[in-house]
Amino acid sequence: MSPTAPTLTDALGRPLRDLRISVTDRCNLRCTYCMPGEIFGPDYAFLPREELLSFEEIERLARLFVVLGVQKLRLTGGEPLLRRGLPELVARLSRLEGVQDIAMTTNGLLLPRLAEGLKAAGLHRVTVSLDALDPEVFGQMNGLGVHPDKVLAGIEAALTAGLGVKINTVVQRGVNDGALAELWTALRGKAVVRFIEFMDVGNHNGWNMSQVVPSSEVVAQLSAAGEALRPVAAHYPGEVAARYVDAQGHEAGVISSVSAPFCGDCSRARLSAVGQLYTCLFAASGFDLRGPLRSGESDDELLARVRGLWSVRRDRYSEERGELSARHQKVEMSHIGG
Ligand code: SAM
Ligand code: SF4
Ligand code: SF4
Repeated sequence: MSPTAPTLTDALGRPLRDLRISVTDRCNLRCTYCMPGEIFGPDYAFLPREELLSFEEIERLARLFVVLGVQKLRLTGGEPLLRRGLPELVARLSRLEGVQDIAMTTNGLLLPRLAEGLKAAGLHRVTVSLDALDPEVFGQMNGLGVHPDKVLAGIEAALTAGLGVKINTVVQRGVNDGALAELWTALRGKAVVRFIEFMDVGNHNGWNMSQVVPSSEVVAQLSAAGEALRPVAAHYPGEVAARYVDAQGHEAGVISSVSAPFCGDCSRARLSAVGQLYTCLFAASGFDLRGPLRSGESDDELLARVRGLWSVRRDRYSEERGELSARHQKVEMSHIGG
């Protein structure tokens, strides 16, 4: 974008700054809050390979989004590390001029094999999801009995490779909220842990407000287990996690998607593995970009399409949650990756 081009903003004045790219709808876990095994079982029809955007197609769309103001790219899934040849995609994206940050959200299981190659290809950071250190609790939450040591090995591999590492912990009342301080104490020397309020994503996770532990309670729990945490300023305006530090400067973050929504600053667009553009994590449907792409639309035509979609965007689901019907259909998390 030329320095004089006006910033693209949506109908509520929010710029387009981040693009989350889902590279697969498949996953090697079945977290109960995301892809419960009863629904995503052996008979579940995952997308056939030819439906997925190719690396060339993802690269082209990412380049166009950068023209429109995107500065940060995040790869996600399903589980992004299951997509074959992922370092090649990272290398393509890292060559795009104007991209300031390339990150990935992953369950970490395949990082011991892939971290080094991804770093060499240009990946900057990973956010690794880990909900509990207790093998029974974690095994139950991931739906397959996978041991937390497997994720810890992935975190170590990422740190050794020189990747920036954060940890995401989804908090569910009565499930893993009894041992949050232990998790933080064990990991705070290695990485920032960010505690996320359990959200009503998708249509199958049985979400109920009573299972949400408000962030204020999480901060109180962490403080009660050691010295009091104090809040620190955001790194940049619109940062989704509120940051806290202990006396040694170890940082914990809380993402209050339910108790204190941050739609007012939401600058994120999401591209599904089949090239649907979603302007909100809770959208009922996306806008097809793969069709126009494959039918030969020019860069200018695609740019006009995305500009048109973003400029009328009014999504603010989390702020409206209480007013919306419980029957509101939403895209599955495994399609757009959080
Ligand atoms: N498979 C990768 C992973 O687990 O990190 C990437 C995709 S996953 C859908 C992205 C993030 O969304 C993870 O950190 C996961 O914990 C989070 N997530 C999934 N379902 C959620 C829910 N119902 N509420 C809050 N966070 C959720
Ligand atoms: Fe897979 Fe990530 Fe969803 Fe868990 S949260 S089921 S690891 S996509
Ligand atoms: Fe953004 Fe939608 Fe989440 Fe609000 S609910 S922060 S608009 S993704």
